[in-house]
Amino acid sequence: LFIALEGGDGTGKSTQIHLLAEALRERGITEVVTTREPGGTEPGGRLRSVVLDGDGVSPRAEALVFAADRAHHVATLVRPIVERGGVVITDRYIDSSRAYQAAGRALGDEEIAALSRWATEGLVPDLTLVLDADPASLAGRLSARGEQNHLDREDAAFRETVRRSFLEYAAQEPERYRVIDAGGSVDDVAARLLEAVTAVLDG
Ligand code: C5P
Repeated sequence: LFIALEGGDGTGKSTQIHLLAEALRERGITEVVTTREPGGTEPGGRLRSVVLDGDGVSPRAEALVFAADRAHHVATLVRPIVERGGVVITDRYIDSSRAYQAAGRALGDEEIAALSRWATEGLVPDLTLVLDADPASLAGRLSARGEQNHLDREDAAFRETVRRSFLEYAAQEPERYRVIDAGGSVDDVAARLLEAVTAVLDG
C-alpha cells in the first residue's frame, strides 16, 4: 500500500507521518516505512540541498531536480517495498510538484504531471491524505520553529494557491483522496488520519 501525505508548509506532515506509521504498526502491519520528498534517499538528500539551500535554482531547473529526486526515490525505495506488500508513507509526492511548481510557479499542470508520470513510471498512491489548514493560521507555527526560509520563499498568495491546488486535486478524485483538517491538537489530527487510513484498509 502506498500512501502520500500532502499539504502546505506547517500543516504538521512530518510530525503526523511518524504517529501514523506507529499506529499502523500497532495494528499489526509489519512493514511500514516512512519517507519524504525531496530527500528520501542519499542522492535525494543532495538534490534537496541543490534546490533548498542557498540561493536555489531557476523554477524549471527546480522542477527537474524534484523530478530527479522522485525518480530515484520511487525506483530504489518506494516501488520495491510496495511490490513486496509493505506500506510506504511518503511526506510529499507528485501533488506537491503540481501545487508548488505547476500552480505556484505557473509552470503548467500538464507538463509537471507528465514529468512526474515519466519519473515514477506511473506509480500513483493508493491513498493521498491532504492535511488542510488556512495558511494564515500556520505562519506563526513556521516562524516559531525558525523556518523563516519557508516564509521568505513563498508569500501569502503563493501559500493560498498551494492550499487551493491540493483541495482541487482531492475534489477531482474523491475516491483516492481524503482531506484531513490539520487544526486542533497533534492527537486530534493523528486520530483523523488513522481513521481515514483504517477505513481504506478495512474497506
Ligand atoms: O516539506 P518540506 O519541508 O520538506 O519541503 C521543503 C520545501 O520544498 C517546501 O517548503 C516547498 O517550498 C518546497 N517544495 C517544492 N516542491 C516540491 C516539494 C517541496 O517547492 N515538490
